[in-house]
Amino acid sequence: MPNDKEHNKVSVLIVGAGPAGLAAAIQLKTIKPQLDVCVVEKGADLGNHNLSGAVLEAEPLHTLLDSAVPGWEDSDAAKDVLASKIDKDNIMFLLGKKLSFNIFFAVKLAKIFHLGFGQMLHKGDYSVSISKLTKWMGQIAKELGAEVLTGFAAEDIILDESSDKATGVKLVDQGLDKEGNKQPNFVEGEVIEADFVVLAEGCDGLVTEKFIEKANLQRKSNQLYSLGVKELIKVSPEQYNKFTSGRVVHAMGYPIWTPVIGPGMFGGGIVYAGVQEHISVGMIVGADWKYCDFNVQDALTNFKNHRFVKKFIDGGTVVEAGAKMIPEGGFYAIPREPETGSIGKGNCVILGDSAGFVNMLKIKGLHNAIDSGIQAAEAIAETIDNPERAAVRYTELVDRSNIAREMYSARNFRQTVAKFGPLQGMPLSVFGGLLPKFKVEEDYEAMTIAPYRLKPNQNFDKDTFTAMAATGHREEQPSHLTILDSDICKTKCTPIFNSPCITFCPAGVYETIHDEVKPANPSNCLHCKTCQRKCPFDNIRWTVPEGGGGPRYKRM
Ligand code: SF4
Ligand code: SF4
Repeated sequence: MPNDKEHNKVSVLIVGAGPAGLAAAIQLKTIKPQLDVCVVEKGADLGNHNLSGAVLEAEPLHTLLDSAVPGWEDSDAAKDVLASKIDKDNIMFLLGKKLSFNIFFAVKLAKIFHLGFGQMLHKGDYSVSISKLTKWMGQIAKELGAEVLTGFAAEDIILDESSDKATGVKLVDQGLDKEGNKQPNFVEGEVIEADFVVLAEGCDGLVTEKFIEKANLQRKSNQLYSLGVKELIKVSPEQYNKFTSGRVVHAMGYPIWTPVIGPGMFGGGIVYAGVQEHISVGMIVGADWKYCDFNVQDALTNFKNHRFVKKFIDGGTVVEAGAKMIPEGGFYAIPREPETGSIGKGNCVILGDSAGFVNMLKIKGLHNAIDSGIQAAEAIAETIDNPERAAVRYTELVDRSNIAREMYSARNFRQTVAKFGPLQGMPLSVFGGLLPKFKVEEDYEAMTIAPYRLKPNQNFDKDTFTAMAATGHREEQPSHLTILDSDICKTKCTPIFNSPCITFCPAGVYETIHDEVKPANPSNCLHCKTCQRKCPFDNIRWTVPEGGGGPRYKRM
């Protein structure tokens, strides 16, 4: 890490070492090797904060690496990351605890008739560990000469007041005690100056959202989120063989959506074959759920106990677990500069999940994240003498790319489901492009007093789940979670909704202590950021803790 003012300036500063940011770094060092490119990442190690489904359409990865690392496919690392090619693609509808129907034919039909649902096919893609993918991409970026700094959390972007030009990024102070007093080991967070700033923090990035506000970028529609929880389970050889390698299952219906009688939530379950007798099981639920006692982990428990899933994992050992949010709002939720329509502004561009490039018809965003990194690098290389044009050029390239085609094709899907609920919304969304843009509320506004009537008998064991995410933070630091007004908790939320943050936080961070709801266990936080999007009174703020804290995913 450069340690004097003179060296704290780089040509390109990338915030976030996920697939998008690392793709930008790799492409930049491939086409402009002389540029100094620095990537800062809050996780202690590469891949620690990366969790996803994750089905990868590999085309953008080929585009990126074919020129950066000729012959890359023959390397052991590539073979390890891309070990699981999908050759069996199931789409199931689960009804009640026992019944299951393969509805893959419906998706095939939709593809033949060019309906949106037809995009939901995964054969030929790869089922990957995004954590491993990120580690590998980071290694490539380093070998090409990019500086990749892990354990450095960014907390703000600095804009020039007169021009709105991004001049750099401020890192988090280290060495404060719980009350915010400087300790002997205090180190003030440096400002890294840059000609170009690339925001690739993933979903609901803190610096990105600050930039959107400061630079007055607008979304035509609210960003919508979902929360995904996932477990990696070591199963018996018989179970693994029964499931078969190279197989992915996406499941709709039970336990989050049952026709007519409810519950009615958007999302579904996943079951993916990993390598070496590991199977990933996950549940993703749109954060516009309305049940105040709902916890996505309860839905995961029900899903795992469904007859179709249970036979593959029963008796298995959970070896890793985690949670993350996914940006689902799609095309109309992409933050843009009102005048130019650019995704970013001036010399600052927004990539991947931070921009919201997830195609909900495919339930995939990883390929778009990598592609956006490539487009950002090209734009920066072309505007090297005129950084003010970078965001406009980046947007022109994105608009000509597959990213824009996909995002546009899925533009009304999620909003339609949010507006009408899964029962009417899913069939309606078939008409995709013919539908108008529906106005949708923020996720947190959807909360009601209705209970989730499929609550399992036992509370989910969040302690074990958190331990399986290997999360941790330095205890003696200011809490990175703030409840803005505890009176609201006491007088409004608890009497009406019974303090839902205590239930929905997947890490059990919130507790009632002496009649007051508090983020009592901030060091358990998984950085999913659900609490600041789902508190029904918008009463929670998540900020970045010291670098190096948070989950330590290895194989997710
Ligand atoms: Fe309710 Fe939000 Fe307070 Fe939690 S923090 S009790 S969800 S108002
Ligand atoms: Fe997620 Fe908030 Fe809980 Fe942390 S405290 S795990 S960000 S819901």
